Amino acid sequence: MELEALATKAGVDTAFIRRAVELADLDAVRVALYQHTGDAEVEALPVAAKLDPEQRAWLIDKAAAWLERNASTQMPPEPPAAQLRHLMTLATGRPMSDVEFEARREVPAFQPFPYAAQWSGEKPPIPEGFKVAIIGSGLAGIAAAIQCELLGLPYVVLERQPEAGGTWTINRYPDVRVDTPSINYEYAFEKKFPWDEHFGRGDAVRSYIQHVSRKYGVHDNTRFATELKQATFDEARNLWVLEVATPKGEETLEATFVITASGVFANAKFPDIEGIESFAGQIVHPSRWPPDLDLRGKRVAVIGNGSTGVQILGAIARDAEQVYVFQRTPQWVSPREKYGRPLEPELKWLVANFPGYWNWWRYMATASGFDLHDFQVPDPDWQAKGGKVNRASDQLREFLTKYIETETGGRKDLIDRLTPDYAPFSRRPVVDNGWYRALTRDNVELVCDGIARVTPEGIETVDGERREVDVIVSATGFDIVKYLWPARFVGRGGRDLHDTWSEGDGPRAYLGMMMPEFPNMFMLYGPNSQPVSGGTGLPSWYVIWAAYAAQSAMRLIREGKSRVEVKREAYERYNAALDVESHKLIQMKKEGGIERNYYVNAQHGRLQMNAPWLSPDFHQMCTIVEWDDLELSE
Ligand SMILES: Cc1cc2nc3c(=O)[nH]c(=O)nc-3n(C[C@H](O)[C@H](O)[C@H](O)COP(=O)(O)OP(=O)(O)OC[C@H]3O[C@@H](n4cnc5c(N)ncnc54)[C@H](O)[C@@H]3O)c2cc1C
Repeated sequence: MELEALATKAGVDTAFIRRAVELADLDAVRVALYQHTGDAEVEALPVAAKLDPEQRAWLIDKAAAWLERNASTQMPPEPPAAQLRHLMTLATGRPMSDVEFEARREVPAFQPFPYAAQWSGEKPPIPEGFKVAIIGSGLAGIAAAIQCELLGLPYVVLERQPEAGGTWTINRYPDVRVDTPSINYEYAFEKKFPWDEHFGRGDAVRSYIQHVSRKYGVHDNTRFATELKQATFDEARNLWVLEVATPKGEETLEATFVITASGVFANAKFPDIEGIESFAGQIVHPSRWPPDLDLRGKRVAVIGNGSTGVQILGAIARDAEQVYVFQRTPQWVSPREKYGRPLEPELKWLVANFPGYWNWWRYMATASGFDLHDFQVPDPDWQAKGGKVNRASDQLREFLTKYIETETGGRKDLIDRLTPDYAPFSRRPVVDNGWYRALTRDNVELVCDGIARVTPEGIETVDGERREVDVIVSATGFDIVKYLWPARFVGRGGRDLHDTWSEGDGPRAYLGMMMPEFPNMFMLYGPNSQPVSGGTGLPSWYVIWAAYAAQSAMRLIREGKSRVEVKREAYERYNAALDVESHKLIQMKKEGGIERNYYVNAQHGRLQMNAPWLSPDFHQMCTIVEWDDLELSE
């Protein structure tokens, strides 16, 4: 059959297929094509960034021709380990260590449920009354619930909101969206979700989470509008007693295991500014955005320039009469390819019809973060020669500085105030949603003088200037220091978790998940759990952590035991090593702006949000349970 006729058979024409390949991630195309054909010429091609125009055109021709004959909606099976490793190496053009291979082999997600724990051999009987209580129905809680579904463990999800979605149910401000590509801001088991944009909007993410919750049966095991107030470990019976507030009043539940998935971005933080209560206008936190808020003709102050403040400004500036942006600390705000752009119909077709493309696209999207650690560890030799942090970091700083210059149209007054004096990647990277350009608008003013007070009419800065406003948008984020707050957890011997943390130096945990004296309790996205170095998207980490908790539950069930707890010595050893590792990072140094860094607990001067390890090492710690670190008892 002629190619034209074959293309028509695939439901699209030759030109459409060609456009699809041209728009695609060419590394993903190259590897998927090689996976199917084993063609030595394809194998010999360099990574996409190094393809010369001739090689590029050849690859596109070859892939388009292959697709015209072989387009199919079938998912390919996972290749054997050695071949998979070869494909992964071809994808990035770099060899990897065994630990890296183990950490990354599930990123392309060929298996039905990557990262999840499964029974090996026959499933043992589940003891009478065994139950897991999961707190929260965001991405983390749903991952834990699906892990329970897979193992056949009875569970209940408690969610204080009326619907699933976690932070995406409360963040409904204009232009809210992910700033990591949607292709890896999704679970590896729910494949090929039809995103409409490269970076999904908040309502799409919410729909995705709710879709997963229903599809895997979690929705029916979730008690919505039900808030955990207190969990107390009953030592005599080895179970947790949960006091919950429901629409019908207080209730007491019992559970063998508690998995907290209560999120870090749960408690909105408002600025503590003199006179704020006297403001006569409206104060709005983006996580409580009034759906009917009309800013047309209004004067608006936006306090904050973190991810949300940057994301929201363009939309506000389009509507409002005048906007004042109050900036305390400049951020490195970086461009992201295809941010805010719809997913092209051709690419949607390719995802559906090029077997393996989705897997390798996902791999490449994740691979862009494999080397993030390199930006975060200073190089003393480089610094001795006058460099600021290390070669990679300084090159990035130069690129981002030029970006500020370009986006502000060379406005010196803005450039000076917008350029940070600390290194990129010391804080959560902020993605540009047209923020710099919005600052150049006639109706937008960047204010860098500190805020002295809020008056009934507006905001007064320390230089005495007053700006009258109708609305204050407090894009000041969340109180991320307060893990698991405000619920209370009372462990063995009546120990209160929050007291334990505040008597020490703030929240800590073993692997971000376990605390001594709090048996059968696991935290997902707990203290020091967000990997500083990329390597696997957060939704996959949730599955990894849930599988860790599941492995403990499975072992208890198999051995007829009823209590698992991290040993104090292991907890202390882990945290001592974590502190040593943290101190190697720029976040904890002057070059990283330690005193203004939200990753750092300001009260105790310690890295609190991040896992400082190299991502593959952290993956190994979280997947291969060190049973000697845990105490299992009757
Ligand atoms: C605007 C925004 C954009 C983001 N973009 C990205 C991104 O692009 N990429 C990325 O990796 N991350 C992003 N994040 C981080 C995001 O927090 C995580 O990716 C993820 O959604 C968090 O999921 P979670 O399940 O851990 O917590 P949450 O989504 O916060 O869910 C926790 C749930 O627990 C419930 N809960 C808490 N306490 C209780 C209680 N006591 N009783 C009952 N229920 C309780 C809450 O109501 C909530 O529904 C973003 C965050 C925000 C706010």
